[in-house]
Amino acid sequence: MNVLVINCGSSSLKFQLINSETEEVAAKGLCERIGIDGRLVYQPAGGEKEITEAPMPTHTEAISMVLDALVNPKTGVLKSLDEVEAIGHRVLHGGAKLTASRIIDDYVISVIDECCDLGPLHNPANLMGIRACMKLMPGKANVAVFDTAFHQTMPAKAYRYAIPTKFYDKYAIRKYGFHGTSHSFVSKETIKYLGLNKETSKVIVAHLGNGASISAVKGGECVDTSMGLTPLEGLIMGTRSGDLDPAVLEYLCNHENLSVSDMLRILNKESGVYALSDNLSSDFRDLEEAMDGGNKAAELAIDAFSYRVAKYIGSYVAAMNGVDAIAFTGGIGENAGIVREKVISYLGFLGLAIDPEQNKKRGERCIISTKDSKVIAAIVPTNEELAICRETVELVEKAGGAKEEI
Ligand code: AMP
Repeated sequence: MNVLVINCGSSSLKFQLINSETEEVAAKGLCERIGIDGRLVYQPAGGEKEITEAPMPTHTEAISMVLDALVNPKTGVLKSLDEVEAIGHRVLHGGAKLTASRIIDDYVISVIDECCDLGPLHNPANLMGIRACMKLMPGKANVAVFDTAFHQTMPAKAYRYAIPTKFYDKYAIRKYGFHGTSHSFVSKETIKYLGLNKETSKVIVAHLGNGASISAVKGGECVDTSMGLTPLEGLIMGTRSGDLDPAVLEYLCNHENLSVSDMLRILNKESGVYALSDNLSSDFRDLEEAMDGGNKAAELAIDAFSYRVAKYIGSYVAAMNGVDAIAFTGGIGENAGIVREKVISYLGFLGLAIDPEQNKKRGERCIISTKDSKVIAAIVPTNEELAICRETVELVEKAGGAKEEI
């Protein structure tokens, strides 16, 4: 089955066309600057990148250009759009109502719409992508795969905030968690790779990228995660602060004459390792290079980032009363050996030690703990697009099967 995987941001759209039997990517690319001017980067498997600049006032024009590129007689990979059998959409927030991937119908659209409040940057863009695909490829199955779904198995003691119940009842203010597609994919891959018994397994997934989150997965189900109502809570990130005393907001609003929205912009876009490195960079490649050159602020940023990850791992070991494996994933988790080394240096109490030779590896699935460690640490690359493709196929096949039975 050919599955088109779509990931819409507010002014961008990433796509991959995946053959679900071989799990190979036939073509991929992205549309940038939607609503501003418009630029499509398209790359067929084994081919050169093609860049086309053309107006993209909305996501509909962007998706229309992607579809044209896929069937282009010269560099396209499809003869006709009939060969696309299903479309899988990454959707940020499904709230408490959509707790698993779903074939998109009017109800699913209405809940994604309701959740725009909780995901104001992403949900409206996700909806635009869904509506554009429905308009341009009528009759095809569209599936929504939610970033929040995997975390819906968390117990109330993990997801409730200790604030008045009326706010939970009235507005569903609680921890939701994000990067669920990645946490689900990587925890499953880790269990398979290490030959763990799924039912009894205790896995911690550290998804460390520009956005970063960590989850505790017991018996294959998420029992806790670091992101909250929004992706701002938890770990220190590229430009996001992660956890901090909420009273900081009032203090800075009063002393700097800022609005709450100003402060949230600062906490989302001007904080994190970027701020700790004195605005040097949010990219760990730059931070590592600067630290090696003696830059103390860059060193502090990497230290604070790693320390926060280690503290969360410690708390999740307590939450699960043990741990079998810690999986590092995401751009930083898969590539930055220095971060893995620093994180693991705090975890000797678990009987876990790093193998320095193995830890030199980048982006490849491997064990990085020593052979005699009591807990395994591993690099397990994530692949969110493939995870979305697999979920889409599973739902479409189930729906097809159900129809045949009728
Ligand atoms: P992601 O959001 O998962 O794509 O991760 C992006 C981040 O991964 C970048 O901003 C870098 O901080 C980090 N990263 C990517 N490649 C490397 C690398 N080779 N070494 C260190 N950090 C890297």
